[in-house]
Amino acid sequence: MVMGDLVREVDVAVIGGGPGGYSAAFRCAELGLETVVVDAEARLGGACLHEGCIPSKALLHVAGVIAEARRAREFGVEFGPPTLALDALRTWVQERVVGKLAKGLAAVARGKGVEVIAGRAVLEGSRSLRVEGDEPQQVRFRHAIVATGSVATAPPGVTLGGRVMDAAAALAMPEIPARLLVVGGGYIGLELGQVYAALGSQVTLVEMTDGLLPGVDRDLVQPLARQCQRTFAAVRLDTRVTGLTATAASVEAVVGSGGPETFDRALVAVGRRPASDGLGLDTTGARIDPHGHVEIDERCRTGDPHVWAVGDVTGEPMLAHRAMRQGRVAAEAIAGRPAAFDSVAVPAVVFTDPEVAWCGLTETQAQREGRAVKAVRVAWGASGRAATLGRADGLTKLVVEPGTGRLLGAGIVGPGAGELIAEAALAVEAALLAEDVALTIHAHPTLAETLMEAAETLR
Ligand code: FAD
Ligand code: NAD
Repeated sequence: MVMGDLVREVDVAVIGGGPGGYSAAFRCAELGLETVVVDAEARLGGACLHEGCIPSKALLHVAGVIAEARRAREFGVEFGPPTLALDALRTWVQERVVGKLAKGLAAVARGKGVEVIAGRAVLEGSRSLRVEGDEPQQVRFRHAIVATGSVATAPPGVTLGGRVMDAAAALAMPEIPARLLVVGGGYIGLELGQVYAALGSQVTLVEMTDGLLPGVDRDLVQPLARQCQRTFAAVRLDTRVTGLTATAASVEAVVGSGGPETFDRALVAVGRRPASDGLGLDTTGARIDPHGHVEIDERCRTGDPHVWAVGDVTGEPMLAHRAMRQGRVAAEAIAGRPAAFDSVAVPAVVFTDPEVAWCGLTETQAQREGRAVKAVRVAWGASGRAATLGRADGLTKLVVEPGTGRLLGAGIVGPGAGELIAEAALAVEAALLAEDVALTIHAHPTLAETLMEAAETLR
């Protein structure tokens, strides 16, 4: 700090303007608290809007259109091979999709009286932070909400940059490489691998465990795995990438125990770590666990009564909708309301083709915990709606408590699974019985009927 630096006094200072941060700030403002958001990138939306959820889903929509056009041959409609105008695609994603939503968020902030301060925040004790950047200033607060998100990681020996891309670099679509190596068969590797495959890259996906989407029920992953076998040049499981060296024109990769292999670019998607370093948390009573997550209670309060934390910086699941809910909980708790993050069903959706979605208790988790459950499945082969879409490759599963029939969880794979899971999440959250779902009339022909049909098998 130097003489003349600005000092602000507010009720709440939110550090980070992603889904966790802006949801918290908007709710604080609605509840009458004077609130500022400090964001290092001087914008609202965070990783989700600018280099995550939204641009990836826009590109997956494009991939879906290409796939549908190809599939149309089956029903006698032939389109020519797609031609790609990369500049137009980038403009659509960046301006029409991301830019429009970013403007909307900025307008909401203005409307609610939430100021966005540009710069990097560093906490200086439990009641103050300094903003580093073009306009250094100090912000004194009654409460701070840490919502700094997460950053991409890389395997040991791998440096991100240039032709070795993280998700943000891949979403910027520098080119469509002829040969793309995707390291990691999780959310990002599968979603962006499918985007690049649809746009013309030969995609080799390498996953270190014995299956894609480790931890997700295998019956839900299987249809996606089959699709990847068809559309990717190769899927190599039980294989690690231990070295990636970028040259001016290519990437040399050490894959498994073999010799070096050459690709045009690589996408590294092996997980994300919380952005909790260098934040000055050590000057507060907040605690960070050995994985770098800020420890919080069910109200999102850290070990310091004036410091709260929400979103990816607090650990798994690193999902935007969880961050948003946590943001509202923290805001309401600060305002003295009886709020807690007590959701039992945080839905997860992998927006691939086919989509994979689940919520509540999974069979894998039940098995791990030694918990007895009954699982019922309906394959989409018998679904009228699936037939009309030419897509019988789906599955709907309900996980229920034996004896009571209470719905504990659900899993869906197939086109539209990401939308369908909302009904299951509501049913699980509301502690409905499978019978309640069976007795609810579902419109015909819809894919949602498969939820009703699965529930009916229990009657
Ligand atoms: P972030 O969105 O990461 O925002 C953190 C903000 O804090 C950033 O703006 C950053 O600039 C700022 N910041 C960091 N440090 C400081 C500091 N010291 N001072 C000031 N500002 C700081 N989730 C889903 O639910 N659905 C999806 O479809 C989905 N797709 C994804 C696709 C990709 C490619 C990626 C990478 C992620 C995706 N996610 C998705 C995850 C989702 O983006 C995150 O869970 C979500 O953005 C977390 O929100 P957050 O508010 O915790 O942090
Ligand atoms: P991830 O945890 O989903 O997947 C990482 C994968 O990389 C795992 O399968 C892991 O076994 C594998 N791996 C790790 N080291 C490896 C190595 N050396 N060689 C080969 N494979 C290796 O992580 P991600 O895909 O980077 O995504 C990060 C997070 O972002 C996700 O966990 C999720 O929380 C969020 N995200 C969500 C969505 C969505 O909601 N649709 C989309 C993208 C990202």
